[in-house]
Amino acid sequence: MRITLVTPTPFQYYSGMLPGWMAGHYALNACCIDLRPLAEAAGATLITEHVLGMDADRHHIRLANGRTMAYDLLSLDVGSETDTSGLQALGDRLLPVKPLDDFFDAWPQVLATASRTPDFRLSVIGGGAAGVELALAANHALRRDGSTAQIDLIVSEAGLLPDHAPGVIRRARRQLAKTNIALHCSRASAGDAGLVLAGGTRLPAHKVIATTGARALGWLGRSGLAVDAHGFILVDAHHRSLSHADVFAAGDTCARADVRMARSGVHAVHAGPILAHNLIATIEGNALRTYRPHPRSLYLLATGPRHAIASWGRWSAEGNWVWHLKDHIDRAFIARFVRISAA
Ligand SMILES: Cc1cc2nc3c(=O)[nH]c(=O)nc-3n(C[C@H](O)[C@H](O)[C@H](O)COP(=O)(O)OP(=O)(O)OC[C@H]3O[C@@H](n4cnc5c(N)ncnc54)[C@H](O)[C@@H]3O)c2cc1C
Repeated sequence: MRITLVTPTPFQYYSGMLPGWMAGHYALNACCIDLRPLAEAAGATLITEHVLGMDADRHHIRLANGRTMAYDLLSLDVGSETDTSGLQALGDRLLPVKPLDDFFDAWPQVLATASRTPDFRLSVIGGGAAGVELALAANHALRRDGSTAQIDLIVSEAGLLPDHAPGVIRRARRQLAKTNIALHCSRASAGDAGLVLAGGTRLPAHKVIATTGARALGWLGRSGLAVDAHGFILVDAHHRSLSHADVFAAGDTCARADVRMARSGVHAVHAGPILAHNLIATIEGNALRTYRPHPRSLYLLATGPRHAIASWGRWSAEGNWVWHLKDHIDRAFIARFVRISAA
């Protein structure tokens, strides 16, 4: 059996630690997993390439270098990209949070430009956890550098943190109020020198960070795989493609046909061991296991300094201790992969 891991870079960046890295609490290498020793430990060949397409009926994927690769069994875990509809005209001003590799590359330059540009204006679009965390992290980093940059957080008419309990929203609003981040509840689109809000208000912006939700990678819709109305790979409870039994998918890239499941790292991570079992079981002809998503997940939202908000169903809490809990969980997550590599 030959196992191949195809990935655009040898590093997997960890979104959970991105806000802490932006705020200056972590070095870059603390927030990413080196895939090379992991692949070696698993006896897998690592190919650093983008996948640009696939033909599910012919059982092959197409790489950016022009090569095609045949497979007998495929695990397709390519995540999602940021939905930048209505924002593309921003050109260089636009900085989508995904792909994460590009964001990690670009943020230090944004910070440097902001520090030397008087009246620098940064907009963050998106009222979900990522938008709130990134706006607060950016604020922390800019103030630490002595920048007087103006930050605007634009959340749609759905409001701030629409998937969280009122207590979490109150806590987030209080944290935002301690900063000079301006909150706008309106839909934004690209304008001449920044954004235009639904009511016609113009918001000038040197940079616009988009955390506007997940969009499926475009080529999945042309792959021959069954996808849902938004282009995500339709899978069953075993995370196997509904249309092609030799394709499995987990994480943001898939949509469960049997149950509604949020696109979150929690599900991507928890489905991982089931996915691994099912890949091996398919080869050995054994029974497949089912991933049962827990209806509630714990979210820990970093707020800039070493402080965070915890959200679990209707329950919420906040404090430096929440940040330390988050820090412990996140570091332990990365350390697990370092230990596997070293074993
Ligand atoms: C700022 C931020 C904070 C977040 N915090 C949390 C949190 O605290 N808790 C939580 O549960 N969720 C969080 N999320 C959501 C979480 O990041 C995603 O749900 C999770 O990363 C999904 O995992 P995944 O493996 O499906 O995709 P990803 O983690 O995006 O991994 C996809 C992988 O596929 C690779 N890839 C992409 N395209 C290709 C291609 N064409 N060819 C080859 N390889 C490709 C990528 O390089 C990457 O290695 C956060 C998201 C953001 C943006």
